[in-house]
Amino acid sequence: MVLQHLFHAGPSSRADLARSTGLTRVTISDLVAELMAAELVEEAGTATSTRVGKPATLVRMRTDEFAILAVDVADDLEMRGALLNLTGEILERRSAPQHGQRGEETITTLLALCRELLAATALPVIGVGVASPGVIDSHGVVLQAPNRGWFEVPLAARLEAELDLPAHVANDANTSALAEYTLGGAEGQGLLALTVRHGVGAGLVLHGELVRGPGHAAGELGHVTVIDEHAGEDPVRCACGRDGCLETILSAPALRARVAGLAPQDSDAALASVGRRLGVVLAPVVSALDLEEVLLCGPQELLAGPLAEAALDTIRERTMPVSSTGLEIRMAALGPDVALQGAAVLVLSGQLGVT
Ligand SMILES: [Zn+2]
Repeated sequence: MVLQHLFHAGPSSRADLARSTGLTRVTISDLVAELMAAELVEEAGTATSTRVGKPATLVRMRTDEFAILAVDVADDLEMRGALLNLTGEILERRSAPQHGQRGEETITTLLALCRELLAATALPVIGVGVASPGVIDSHGVVLQAPNRGWFEVPLAARLEAELDLPAHVANDANTSALAEYTLGGAEGQGLLALTVRHGVGAGLVLHGELVRGPGHAAGELGHVTVIDEHAGEDPVRCACGRDGCLETILSAPALRARVAGLAPQDSDAALASVGRRLGVVLAPVVSALDLEEVLLCGPQELLAGPLAEAALDTIRERTMPVSSTGLEIRMAALGPDVALQGAAVLVLSGQLGVT
């Protein structure tokens, strides 16, 4: 609670901390002493106060004196890693090609990238966070990630054993939602982050909490059928083995293929038609969960504009005003690093309780 307050409010007095956490001054002093001994917080001058009496000493989180190692393995071409400070700012980047890699080969690439980054910093590293495709449980076991060839892979445990660091692994849509909430300024009361990459996924944050679901598969909207052969349409086979999933028309490669070679006007119409399908999928989700923010994480040139506008119009047509009047659809604030920064948030949250 103390770190959570300092992370979001910046340098604060012990009295501020007591007020915001509801803990007593004595407890706060003990906790601050403990955090100072762990070198996570330090005293940072005094507050300028208009009140009479001794000015209060401020304490701050030492966000630049530690690093987090984060890797995003959800891209199809390139594995991207970074060292970040405790405010989520990227200090160093490294990447490794992973095109066509599967199974153990991908894990070897991941470990090599982690070791390369660890060698690039003198700062103490508090943990490693990984954004991965697939269905992942709360212990960092990848239950299934078909396009990585991972089934029941205890990825967090492997990383902990090999790197001797605490490790946290989550789905890349979930890390994107966390990043927008913790670092990107999203409200996070009713937030859905839609990731449009090699695959399509969604991460949900409700009342500031990531929704995982009992089967760890909350947000798997990419594999909802949208192209129906019974309605005379021509569905395409999806990576999941089924036909006509949302992913088959909305993934980044599918969108690129759809607009390739089209004149701007035709390209806009093609993107709007995908946006309407997306709106049909999202309308019941928006209504069921009373969402207020839908954030699009992926190529801006494809998602912003006609696609997002058509999705919002479709949701409005299909839902009661009470559900969609306040709804906003916008591009993620953090841009292409959103899943990677979210992997760092996994560590902030898992190791320090900061969300
Ligand atoms: Zn599918």
